[in-house]
Amino acid sequence: MKRVFTADNIALAWHVNNILQSNSIKAEVRNDSLHSAQGGIPVTECNPEVWIFNEADEQLAAQLIEEQQNSNQTIQKPDWNCAKCGEQNFAQFEICWNCQTAHSETD
Ligand SMILES: [Zn+2]
Repeated sequence: MKRVFTADNIALAWHVNNILQSNSIKAEVRNDSLHSAQGGIPVTECNPEVWIFNEADEQLAAQLIEEQQNSNQTIQKPDWNCAKCGEQNFAQFEICWNCQTAHSETD
């Protein structure tokens, strides 16, 4: 396991996780404060992190994350709020990071 990204917010962490997964890199989000809070333990001091399972994927992961961060600056589409759970999602999300409801289902 190796940490490849520390996010400012949980939605961004899940977005990076989705990018890695879509490139066949096995990854997971840690310090998911929202989910921890549901368990009754408030976690406010920990930023969400993205970890990869195979350290051999690190270089590709770093490259994908860098591309994602560069592309973020030119995104024109607005964020959207999930119709099911109300969470805000980045425009490029196909599904809600929180409840996996497809964006197309919320139109
Ligand atoms: Zn949702």
